[in-house]
Amino acid sequence: MNTHASVKDAVRIIAGIGNFVDEFIDLRHDLHRHPELAFKEERTSSRVASLLAGWGYEVSTGLAGTGVIGTLRRGDGKTLGIRADMDALPIDERTGLSYASVHPGVMHACGHDGHTTILLAAARYLAERGTIAGTLNLIFQPAEEIGAGAKKMISERLFERFPCDAVFGLHNWPGVQEAQFGFVEGAAMASVDQAVIRVVGKGGHGAEPHNTVDPVLAAAHIVTALQSVVARNVDPRDMAVVTVGSIHGGAASNVIPDSVELKLTVRTYRPDLRAELQRRIPALARAQAESFGATAEVHYRLGFPSVINHPAETSFARQVAQRSFGRAAVEEDFRPRTASEDFAFMLEARPGSYVFVGNGESAPLHSPLYDFNDAIIAPAAAYWVALAETYLNAS
Ligand SMILES: [Zn+2]
Ligand SMILES: [Zn+2]
Repeated sequence: MNTHASVKDAVRIIAGIGNFVDEFIDLRHDLHRHPELAFKEERTSSRVASLLAGWGYEVSTGLAGTGVIGTLRRGDGKTLGIRADMDALPIDERTGLSYASVHPGVMHACGHDGHTTILLAAARYLAERGTIAGTLNLIFQPAEEIGAGAKKMISERLFERFPCDAVFGLHNWPGVQEAQFGFVEGAAMASVDQAVIRVVGKGGHGAEPHNTVDPVLAAAHIVTALQSVVARNVDPRDMAVVTVGSIHGGAASNVIPDSVELKLTVRTYRPDLRAELQRRIPALARAQAESFGATAEVHYRLGFPSVINHPAETSFARQVAQRSFGRAAVEEDFRPRTASEDFAFMLEARPGSYVFVGNGESAPLHSPLYDFNDAIIAPAAAYWVALAETYLNAS
C-alpha cells in the first residue's frame, strides 16, 4: 500500500480542523454531560445522524438499534470503514467537572464521547474539504462496553450493506503522552471469557464434617489448582490470565454449605491458547471437585476474541502517522494491552487495525475520575482524515 500523506498535508488538515475545533470540544462536553448505556444511545445516535446528514452524508440508522452509518461516495474506488464507539458505563462520575454527567450512575469513563467527537470532526472536514476517491463508511457503534455492539452490527450485515475493504478504529490511552500514536501488529488486546464454577457437596453441621462433603474445602483447592494452568499449561512465552474474582458460599461459621460458587475471568492473546484454556479450566475444576467427593458444574461463557491487527493495514496505519506527524509522534515498541475491545469482531470480518492514541496523564479508563483529553480531538481527527485520504487515493 502506498502512503502519500505528508507533513504538509497534515498541517493543512490540522489548520482546517482548527478552524472549527471549538465546536467539537463543545459537542464532546455535551455528549459527556448526557452519557447513555449500551444499546440506549438514542440521544447520541440522533445527534450523530443529524450532524452527518447536515454535512451531506448518506445516513443509515437502526443497525443494531442505535448504530449509525454515514456514507460519503466520491466515484469509483476502494471502500473504507472507520469506526467509533458511542456508549457509556454504569459508573457514578466523581470528576466535579462543569460538564459532568447529569445522569447519576452513568458516565463516559472510557472516552467514547471523545472517539465519537473525533470521528465527527474528521467527517466534517472530509465532507467539506477532503480529497477522496471511493466510498467512506463512518461506523458509529453502540454497546462496546458489553461486547455486543460490533457483533450485532455484523450479524445485521454491516459489511454486506456497507462494503469496507479495510476497517480501522482507535482508543485513547491514559498514561501515554498526549496525541502520541501507538501501533501493534498482531495481537493488540486480549480475549476475555468468563467461567462460573458451582462446586456442589453435601452440607451439614460444622461440628460433624465427616457427615458432609465440604464444597468450601474443594473450592479452595480448585482456586489453588487453577494457578497451575498458567504456570504449567501455558507456554512461558505466551500471556494468559486466570483470575478468580468472586467466591461465594456459606453464611455461618458452624455450617458447612451445600455449594460454593466461583467466578473467573480468563484472558489471552492467542486463539489456540484461548481454546486450550476453555478445555483445561473445566477439566481441572471437575477433577479437583471429584477428588473430594464433590462435583463441579462449569458454565464457560465466551466473551470476545483478542484484537488481532492485520500486518499490512497496521503498517499502513503506522506510516500514515509517521508521514503526517513525524516519527516522534509514534510511540516506539507500543506493547499489547490486556484489556479487551469488541472491535475484535470487526477485525475477524475484515482486514484492518486498531490504533492507540495517548490521552496524556489522566485517571485510568473506567475510573470515576477519568476524563477524555480534548487536546487530542484535532490531531486524532486529522489522523483519520489523512488515513482516509491516503487509503482512498492510493492506487
Ligand atoms: Zn471501556
Ligand atoms: Zn473504551
